[in-house]
Amino acid sequence: MAAELPPPPHRSPKLLLVLIDGCRPDALLAADAPNARALLRGAKAGAERCAFSLHSQTDPVPISAPSWATLLTGQPASEHRVASNDLDSLLVTDAQGQVFVNAAPCFCRSPRASACFVSAFSEAKRRRVAGPKALPPTLFHRVAEHGGQCRLLNVGWAGVAKLCGADQDRLSLLGGRLKVQLYRDEASELSVAVADIVSTLEDLAADAPAVLALYTHTVDLAGHMHGFSLDVPQYLEAIEHVDACLGRLRAALAARQGHKAEDWLLAVTTDHGGGAAKDMPRELWSSFVDCGCLHQGVSQAGFEGVHGLQDLATHSTRFLILAGSAVRPGELTPPPAALDLLPTLLRHLRLPSDDLPGQSRGLETTRPVIPRRAGGKVNREGRINGDLNLSRALGDFFYKKNRRLAPEAQLISPLPEVRCRQLIERDRYLLLGCDGVWERFTNQQVADFLLKRLPSSRSISQACAEFLDSCLAANSQNGAQALNPKP
Ligand SMILES: [Zn+2]
Repeated sequence: MAAELPPPPHRSPKLLLVLIDGCRPDALLAADAPNARALLRGAKAGAERCAFSLHSQTDPVPISAPSWATLLTGQPASEHRVASNDLDSLLVTDAQGQVFVNAAPCFCRSPRASACFVSAFSEAKRRRVAGPKALPPTLFHRVAEHGGQCRLLNVGWAGVAKLCGADQDRLSLLGGRLKVQLYRDEASELSVAVADIVSTLEDLAADAPAVLALYTHTVDLAGHMHGFSLDVPQYLEAIEHVDACLGRLRAALAARQGHKAEDWLLAVTTDHGGGAAKDMPRELWSSFVDCGCLHQGVSQAGFEGVHGLQDLATHSTRFLILAGSAVRPGELTPPPAALDLLPTLLRHLRLPSDDLPGQSRGLETTRPVIPRRAGGKVNREGRINGDLNLSRALGDFFYKKNRRLAPEAQLISPLPEVRCRQLIERDRYLLLGCDGVWERFTNQQVADFLLKRLPSSRSISQACAEFLDSCLAANSQNGAQALNPKP
């Protein structure tokens, strides 16, 4: 299927970012959420310019501020050092809106299961690192630095606003290029914020900001009060309300794009999931109620839901939905890392992201990651430092030893390129080969060579042996393996 070309560059790129705190992907599917579901269905069918994953993970832990800090700065916790939700004591903002992070525990993961996040956290607290240190620039800082305007509408818990340097007394930041509005933690307030965005989009006479961001805490609040669970109606209702808002935003975007030379990307994501007391073993639940380590010393007694355990999939699994004219439709496999969100958004906005460890995902313009930060050279045959020209999960550690880079940003990436193809009646053989083969022959040449020999009485292995001989004959320096052609 031929993909449409990305929109011409004269349409100015815009971003509508919807951040839903504490929304489990499976609950999004279980809820009556027709707008999210239409996007997912359309992506699967190739009918919508939408890409999604329901299997992304939180990084570093399923707690709001650390997770949002990773998503919005594109840096791992070891760099941003936002280790808890206690932002009032953790963050300091100077007059220019620059955010600093006070001495914070560094994250270390215990190999022991579940509740051991508690002990790992306490352990980390004892090994404090010196501070304060500047928070790496967020999406908003990066856009503002390049002269773009941003608006953040923050409904409920003001953590995301604080990570941007905002508070009640400071709502215009970064030289006026970031405007923040704070709303109370109520569904009705979310409706007001959404109406504000809709009227901004409806105002065709005005330029829209480069980034319109909506953060809502309403789903997380329902999860804490009643339980983050598929059979908790209040939790699902909160998701359904956000979904209705999503429908209003999509309709307003579609109407605007008919009139303006703008290229909007809609990105919807969450920071973590959660669980319900009624679904948890007593000992696990008591680690939240009795121990002060999780949730910064705030006992969770009196609540029906919690989150915070990286080892529980219901806490740590996130979703990401992207929709826009340059989005390559389908499910994102492998699931995007938390570090990939910011490079993806920046790519759409045509802003640099070379300094970030993640990679852009799901956009038509996405090209293979070039290991620029890792150093090295790619030669004419596509070989890194003249050696390997493939992704490789196991071994070759010599190419993977830059500790400051994520695995997929190393000289040799472990991230495979996956293409899916439906087998059809006419398919007869599956041939697996490595780089030595494909450097010498095209797919068609290999098929011609083997098909000519296979109908004869000779065996598959004999045909393969002849093929390998011809590879070696063509260039005796190339090693080649053709493996297991199967009917
Ligand atoms: Zn959260």
